[in-house]
Amino acid sequence: MKAAEILAEISQQVSVCEKCALHYSRKHAVPGEGPADSTVMFIGEGPGFYENEQGRPFVGAAGNFLDELLAACRMPREKVFITNVVKCRPPGNRDPLPEELTSCSDYLDRQIEAINPKIIVTLGRFSMAHFMPLAKIGEVHGQASWVRGRLIVPMYHPAAALHQPSLKPVLERDFTRLPGYVEQARHAQPEIKPESEEPPAAPQDDEPTQLSLF
Ligand code: URA
Ligand code: SF4
Repeated sequence: MKAAEILAEISQQVSVCEKCALHYSRKHAVPGEGPADSTVMFIGEGPGFYENEQGRPFVGAAGNFLDELLAACRMPREKVFITNVVKCRPPGNRDPLPEELTSCSDYLDRQIEAINPKIIVTLGRFSMAHFMPLAKIGEVHGQASWVRGRLIVPMYHPAAALHQPSLKPVLERDFTRLPGYVEQARHAQPEIKPESEEPPAAPQDDEPTQLSLF
């Protein structure tokens, strides 16, 4: 089956999923969206109010800020895949519970396998914990590391930066490193790259690199 067909099948399954209690209160499940051959995948926490209304990821205030961050590093939103660790809104935007994360993780893993992105950007600590359970966001934000043959870049959640203004320039600066990581991942050979917690060297240039990919 082609990647796009697998993604469509996953979206269909998510839209009717009853594997955890979040299905009781959802209006629309939010499977995620973007091209099946995306080089970069962004993974947030879970749908908020507007996402639950529309069935699309990152369409509220945090989404607007994410759009700005993407534009600043010349990555059009339509060229990346955007999803969340839980696909249904936790009531009142509370943190997802461990059993909800566990129930939903199979959908995320299948999306990653189908898309096979070169880079995964995690937004917030729940998404980071899916790949780096022991990492602390304050220590590793903006630094890429290889996890199971993929370059994972943990970032603060855009909503966190809206609540805590001092994080905004940090997130903006971390995003400027993404084009360099994309270049690095494109030239790497993931199959012979040993799993390592060592972050690759950050790009030297503060200016975003112009990408041929986008
Ligand atoms: N916050 C998230 O983590 N995901 C969304 O889709 C929207 C806001
Ligand atoms: Fe199913 Fe995930 Fe929604 Fe829970 S959050 S009902 S596991 S799609």
